[in-house]
Amino acid sequence: MNFFQIHLIPEPQITGYYDLRLVFFSFVTAVFASYIALSIAARLKTTSGRMNYCSWLFGGALVMGLGIWTMHFIGMEAFTSHVQIQYDPSITLLSLLIAIVASGFALFWVSRARVTTSSILMGGALMGIAIVSMHYVGMAAMLGMHISYLPSLFSLSIVIAILASQAALWLMVKNYKSETAFSFRLNGLSAIVMGFAICGMHYVGMAAAVMISSNDENPLSEQSIQGGLPLFYIGIATSFIMFIFLIMSSSNQKTLISLKKTNDMLIAKETELIEARQRAEQANLAKSFFLANMSHEIRTPLNVIIGMISLLERSNLDEKTKKYVNRMAISSKILLDLLVNILDLSKIEAEKLTLTLTSCDFIDLTKEIIDVMTPRIGEKKLKLIIDYDVTHSLKIISDPIRIQQVMTNLIDNAIKFTDKGFIKIRITSKKVNHVHLLIRFEVEDSGIGIHEEHFSRTFQKFSQVDDTSTRKFGGSGLGLVISKELTELLGGKIGFTSQLGVGSTFWFEIPFLINKVED
Ligand code: ADP
Repeated sequence: MNFFQIHLIPEPQITGYYDLRLVFFSFVTAVFASYIALSIAARLKTTSGRMNYCSWLFGGALVMGLGIWTMHFIGMEAFTSHVQIQYDPSITLLSLLIAIVASGFALFWVSRARVTTSSILMGGALMGIAIVSMHYVGMAAMLGMHISYLPSLFSLSIVIAILASQAALWLMVKNYKSETAFSFRLNGLSAIVMGFAICGMHYVGMAAAVMISSNDENPLSEQSIQGGLPLFYIGIATSFIMFIFLIMSSSNQKTLISLKKTNDMLIAKETELIEARQRAEQANLAKSFFLANMSHEIRTPLNVIIGMISLLERSNLDEKTKKYVNRMAISSKILLDLLVNILDLSKIEAEKLTLTLTSCDFIDLTKEIIDVMTPRIGEKKLKLIIDYDVTHSLKIISDPIRIQQVMTNLIDNAIKFTDKGFIKIRITSKKVNHVHLLIRFEVEDSGIGIHEEHFSRTFQKFSQVDDTSTRKFGGSGLGLVISKELTELLGGKIGFTSQLGVGSTFWFEIPFLINKVED
């Protein structure tokens, strides 16, 4: 069936006709191969493992290379002329190898981690070069033929191959990046564009060719491949290989789609969680602000009450009233301590707590706290052991009030949870560099200790490691939390070791700035 004729310059050039059925078949082959190769290229992006990646890359290159190659020879078969075209086997094989290797390189390029416009342009150019080189090497495989090319159509064939390949890759990447599920339609469209790159190049390349039969000069060799039947078998084999890859890559696409769906769901869930967390954090911050303001407001009238109680204590009272007033004094003091703790914690949480840095002596700060605590230690008949050089001085720049607050909490707990035995206070220091001095402060006691199971709860807010201790020893469970926050605010860390029934050692370690002026 002769459809249209190409006029290839006057005699003795070869003129021929295109069989449109074979032209169509060549286009289908090119689209088919492109579809599979582009699906594989998309898959390569999510493939992990070197072996896995290499086998998919090889598969993609094989299909694409075979596709271009088969298209070319079907296209050649479609060209019907009075000359029986024969091919040189080694150059024919070479054209196939070129198509596979160049396709592999192009697929590798587009499957790299970052997809940018320049990588698409470059990948498309590589793919175009793969098609062009295959075609012209395939043309050179023809035996007994003198071929020259018309420059304008020759250049146009290259431009078509490159531009259409770039457009196809751009569509593929767009499909891959699309937020909604992977689209077969978009993938199909990119395959059609790639098919156009291959076929458009081929037929324009053919139109560019001026072929003159030179059979007399170059007698045909025995091993030459004849167009027609052998090529038909090769075409069947190629289609079979492509079909296998189509099945493999379509199952892969299904996985890709379900992965994409799962991924979308996870992203939606993550956004929901982030929003919920932000809401919770805002609510928590609002609560901290409220607490900070309220405890400040309550403290003022409470201080007035405490002041009045102390005035009352000093007035002439009978024994019974004195006892009542004394109870009131103790309770209001506990209430004030509690309030101060809540105020501190909410200030820390609302990030309103600031440090007031001044020069101080760590040893002096410790002595002051011990002076305040000694009566309580004496009341419980505990032995106080001082394990540091009291005559020594550790001059630093820090916030003395906050340091003493942490010291007080640790010593206060040691006294509270120890009924007999000792309380040992140890201070050690180490120069870190010429500006920092690392001071470690330890309070060891022979008290009730903490069960290993409860270690993790010790620094938790509002948590007392053992609920019965609330009833027995009182307290709010805030002291250690505040101490931890303050220590960290001062740039240090806090910790403890403990053994149930034997005792505990609570410590903090802070790298203080050395006060060089007074040093
Ligand atoms: P509280 O106001 O309850 O003392 P803290 O935050 O200071 O709150 O302490 C939390 C809990 O850690 C205490 O209730 C207690 O169970 C445990 N704890 C703290 N220090 C000691 C210690 N020296 N010996 C035994 N248990 C301790």
